[in-house]
Amino acid sequence: MTRLLPTSTAGSLPKPSWLAEPEKLWSPWKLEGEALVEGKQDALRVTLSEQQRAGIDIVSDGEQTRQHFVTTFIEYLTGVDFEKRETVKIRDRYDASVPTVVGPVSRDKPVFVEDAKFLRAQTDSPIKWALPGPMTMIDTLYDAHYRSREKLAWEFATILNQEARELEAAGVDIIQFDEPAFNVFFDEVNDWGVATLERAIEGLNCETAVHICYGYGIKANTDWKKTLGSEWRQYERTFPRLQASNIDLVSLECHNSHVPIDLIELLRGKKVMVGAIDVASNTIETPEEVADTLRKALRFVDADKLYPCTNCGMAPLSRAVARGKLNALSAGAEIIRRELSTPLAAE
Ligand SMILES: [Zn+2]
Repeated sequence: MTRLLPTSTAGSLPKPSWLAEPEKLWSPWKLEGEALVEGKQDALRVTLSEQQRAGIDIVSDGEQTRQHFVTTFIEYLTGVDFEKRETVKIRDRYDASVPTVVGPVSRDKPVFVEDAKFLRAQTDSPIKWALPGPMTMIDTLYDAHYRSREKLAWEFATILNQEARELEAAGVDIIQFDEPAFNVFFDEVNDWGVATLERAIEGLNCETAVHICYGYGIKANTDWKKTLGSEWRQYERTFPRLQASNIDLVSLECHNSHVPIDLIELLRGKKVMVGAIDVASNTIETPEEVADTLRKALRFVDADKLYPCTNCGMAPLSRAVARGKLNALSAGAEIIRRELSTPLAAE
């Protein structure tokens, strides 16, 4: 990126109401067959156009072709039985009925590669593509085969690497792995979580990112956040290991959160996607509020490594609210770009 403070989003964006029921996670598709294929592509065109109109620099598919950021990827793999379900506690937080790993897992066909090619054909802007991370994948399954979280994570890392290499060949500029589980299982992150992520990016020449957040603005997450106290220091447990890793960018939650912003210092040297948009609120930030968060972050990350972003995905928000937030992100970043080009105001 040559532009200072290139903006992007953490991942998902709202889907049009003709494709899936709005303001809902895991929303069922409203179309089927060929109409669904075409509908997903049209939605991808729309979300791209909305990002471009808002002035977002690094664009994405807004996850228009997937129902869920983890499950959709797993649906394409063999070794997982979606009919055989067990109840597990996801991220130590809420019970969910999940599919079962019944045999060796493998990826017999590409998952998102055609979608990425389609997006690439629509724009010359840098594109970012999100995949679930190994630890977050194992956390949404019941494992009746490997019976080892670590072993299953290594298997998924190999599979993710296959997909990532093909996404890179399709022209993706940044491949991002979503690892909200990194904010929960600290010992495992340090023992093997980051190592499996490094396995997933092996041999890639494009940039790589990891997104670690406090989740969508759904009730299970907001209830959990209430138990975390006034200072959220979870990042402190994993950032030193990530700083020493091969991952290029770290995407984190900042705006309206209780994360002490000086924890960003632990990543010094890495590019940091600073969440300057709250995805758990319908209130649209003012450009000045966005700028204020970025200004604070600039004390701990060099300007050429600061990537203004959203705290998390915006799939559960209304399209109007999401559009407003994208505009605010762009306008807030522009305020800081102007300040940085005026030497006296740089402080
Ligand atoms: Zn997130």
